[in-house]
Amino acid sequence: SLQLPKPTRRRVLTVANQKGGVGKTTSTVNLAAALAIHGLKVLVIDLDPQGNASTALGVEHRSGTPSVYEVLIGEISISEAAQQSTASPNLYCVPATIDLAGAEIELVSMVARESRLKEALSPEALDDFQPDYVFIDCPPSLGLLTVNAMCAAQEVLIPIQCEYYALEGLGQLLRNIELVQAHLNPHLNVSTILLTMYDGRTKLADQVTSEVRGHFGDTVLKTVIPRSVKVSEAPGYGQTILAYDPGSRGAMSYLDAAREIAVYGSEMGLA
Ligand code: ADP
Ligand code: MG
Repeated sequence: SLQLPKPTRRRVLTVANQKGGVGKTTSTVNLAAALAIHGLKVLVIDLDPQGNASTALGVEHRSGTPSVYEVLIGEISISEAAQQSTASPNLYCVPATIDLAGAEIELVSMVARESRLKEALSPEALDDFQPDYVFIDCPPSLGLLTVNAMCAAQEVLIPIQCEYYALEGLGQLLRNIELVQAHLNPHLNVSTILLTMYDGRTKLADQVTSEVRGHFGDTVLKTVIPRSVKVSEAPGYGQTILAYDPGSRGAMSYLDAAREIAVYGSEMGLA
């Protein structure tokens, strides 16, 4: 398959939206898989105690499995927790287990509580394990786990579902990003907005699409992810849509979105 530009510096993208069910996890795993099958080395960090990204990438995440929880509390390194995904030999996942559920509270009393993931992702801590892309799949909240993700990244990718109230809550997310920029991570920027679950049969979907484009301009990817049953079925088989139904519109759209992200990065001097 066609090669995509390899970033000269590692790109770390935090996939965030405090609303649940907007396509954070689905977009994380499918974009990551799309980049990996184009020869790039990609790491997904599952930062949601639900472990949905771990499931979709076919990696072990029973309680007790070395996971992002042990990474955050400083017991193990990213490379010790990372497992190769069944989706691609270039794709790795640091799983989330249910042990992560308590981390939001445990982190409060820890030293450098906001930057623990950032430290774990430093070149020194990563050592021989040097991915081209890191995607961090956030939980549906703006707590310390999401703040850790925002401190560890240069980019935020916001999935927005094409439905009523799509923009509701985004103000709060953007204000939180500004706070992180001001106090913790001046390099952070909202690089990418991805419209998800687009249903072409409804007028509403088009209204939402143009409203979001009006607000965010070129930050919004041209590619829109269609609503498709196949996309929602794939994780049940521990697969990405690219493996589950490679010819489907869902698979094509995630390949197109990944290409846009990679090419945008090269235009921005990131690749
Ligand atoms: P989040 O991580 O933001 O909570 P998910 O990615 O888990 O959201 O998606 C929420 C639900 O919607 C899941 O059941 C998922 O399978 C389904 N879903 C996500 N994207 C699509 C799509 N393009 N078409 C149909 N269903 C989708
Ligand atoms: Mg999720």
